[in-house]
Amino acid sequence: MLIDSHCHLDRLKIAPDHDSLVDVIAEAKRRGVDYMLCVNVRQQGFEAMRDRMASFENVFLSAGVHPLDVKEGLEVAGLSQYATDKRVVAIGETGLDYFYSPETKAIQQDCFEKQIDVAVEVGKPLIIHTRGAREDTIAMLKQGHADKVGGVLHCFTEDWDMAKAAMDLGFYISISGIVTFKNAGELRTVVRKIPKDRLLVETDSPYLAPIPYRGKENQPAFVRDVAEFVAEVRGEKYEELAEFTSNNFFALFKDAAKLVGR
Ligand SMILES: [Zn+2]
Ligand SMILES: [Zn+2]
Repeated sequence: MLIDSHCHLDRLKIAPDHDSLVDVIAEAKRRGVDYMLCVNVRQQGFEAMRDRMASFENVFLSAGVHPLDVKEGLEVAGLSQYATDKRVVAIGETGLDYFYSPETKAIQQDCFEKQIDVAVEVGKPLIIHTRGAREDTIAMLKQGHADKVGGVLHCFTEDWDMAKAAMDLGFYISISGIVTFKNAGELRTVVRKIPKDRLLVETDSPYLAPIPYRGKENQPAFVRDVAEFVAEVRGEKYEELAEFTSNNFFALFKDAAKLVGR
């Protein structure tokens, strides 16, 4: 079993309707990907995403507002309400992205703080997007007592100190197809050091297709390639990595474990 811990199934151009989505999920299954977490980025898009995924029992959901979508707004009461949906296993993705959008820093921080509070209140882990904001991300997680619920730094591209600081707060580190890119040597060094019980893998599809699919739209099936690559980099067997990352997924997303009776 393998799990895509972070994807945006509702944004795939290759799956604009129900039938094509059935095909994408079947292709994932064919490659050993039994479960996936479909991550929300716009609060206004949550209901449509939830309804589209309703018939797929192996797709879990999150609810939240992405740091690059904060201008569309966060409404805390509504988010708390979505968070009670039984398929919602996490809050996010939230966090800080000063790299792409330094001008919205203040709104990003406000939305991040509020989503940490919601996560702690409902007792669900956080899915964190962080880019160019190492110190502030860790400081805000500490300040909001995010260690009470834990979470994951998704699509990790930062340095070892950041990984270590997050793991000290009980967070997991999720690796995407970026690890397969030629210029990702520093990331591969970090990947070798992450303890087995803190590692997750993801596609972040439709974005960031791993080698050898560059230029194609990314899809959950390709997490297999990410996992095989990560296993090789770490000197582990694919089967072993698939097993411990799946165990980590269910250890972090406890509501997902409950849904599938683990
Ligand atoms: Zn992200
Ligand atoms: Zn994402």
